[in-house]
Amino acid sequence: MSKYFNSFYKELTPYTPGEQPQDKKYIKLNTNESPYIPAPGVIDVINSKEAADLRLYSDPELKPLKAELARAYGVEPKNVFVGNGSDEVLYFAFMAFGEAGLKFADITYGCYKVFAAVNGLKTEIVPLKDDLSLDPSDYMDSGKAVVIANPNAPTGMTISLEDIAEIAKSNAGSVVMIDEAYVDFGAESAVELTKEFDNLLVVQTFSKSRSLAGARVGYAIGNEELIADLETLKFSFNPYNVNRLSMAAAVEAVKAADYYKDACGKIAATREWTTKELTKLGFTVLPSKSNFIFAKTPDYDGKKLYLDLKDRGILIRHFDSARISDYNRITIGTQEDMETFVATVKELLAK
Ligand SMILES: *Cc1c(COP(=O)(O)O)cnc(C)c1O
Repeated sequence: MSKYFNSFYKELTPYTPGEQPQDKKYIKLNTNESPYIPAPGVIDVINSKEAADLRLYSDPELKPLKAELARAYGVEPKNVFVGNGSDEVLYFAFMAFGEAGLKFADITYGCYKVFAAVNGLKTEIVPLKDDLSLDPSDYMDSGKAVVIANPNAPTGMTISLEDIAEIAKSNAGSVVMIDEAYVDFGAESAVELTKEFDNLLVVQTFSKSRSLAGARVGYAIGNEELIADLETLKFSFNPYNVNRLSMAAAVEAVKAADYYKDACGKIAATREWTTKELTKLGFTVLPSKSNFIFAKTPDYDGKKLYLDLKDRGILIRHFDSARISDYNRITIGTQEDMETFVATVKELLAK
């Protein structure tokens, strides 16, 4: 740390992303990327004309993408905010709506804590239940902003739309953010509820179900006044927050809904297959509606399983935190990836 560093930030613990190793080729089941390439139209649009246009600034209002998202979700463009990944969207939302503090689960997406800290927000951390499910009643009348990942990460578990409506209703004085990064793998979206509740903000991303993690595009849907607040912050920070290539890719991705529906369906089917196989091997697997599963077994230490699989060229994600160190989070790859994964786990258990 330099002696010049702003003292406000000295205690910050930054987010630790999952490994992106460059040393050799792994079966990569550690950062919830899609195993399937983007839709053909997405790849085609990144052509030499688009590359030549990089000399020009991108559209700061992101009009074509907002129009496409609005059409796809049955809202108006003024109800859509677009960011550089949903991480940026969440960051602006915490900045905008976290003045009275922010409430979230003890086991959830790691960026919430970091984004709250960098903005100096007070936090209230609510433990998940013993079975790692989230109790909606813990989030009623919070007196501060609420953020819930639904499905939650790294558990993959969901709460119902009825619960979300109750939470929004009981927190009329603050904003309730529902992070739907994984909603397309079999959960229900709360987008429709944003028409009923002006304090409800739904955040989604192109990174998981649309195979565009590297493009960095995310968005929020909500009441136009909430969206206008996010725009105020964006135009005060980085007006050209989404680059030309990424916006062009994202527009095509929204149009290719059928392609991605098919890919998500394959991933959900492979998830069910993997869950069944691991259960047969004695694992406890939480009921997941996402593109990963969270699993543990009494027969093999969680961290050791992660390390031994890494030795054998398979990367999964292990979290060294108290309540979940027995578990590993396993991204669902192709059916072939998962057959290799299950066979390797079998070998390790037999040793
Ligand atoms: C991956 C993830 C995000 C962030 O995704 P971006 O790549 O920044 O769009 C947000 N929330 C959760 C729960 C995630 O798992």
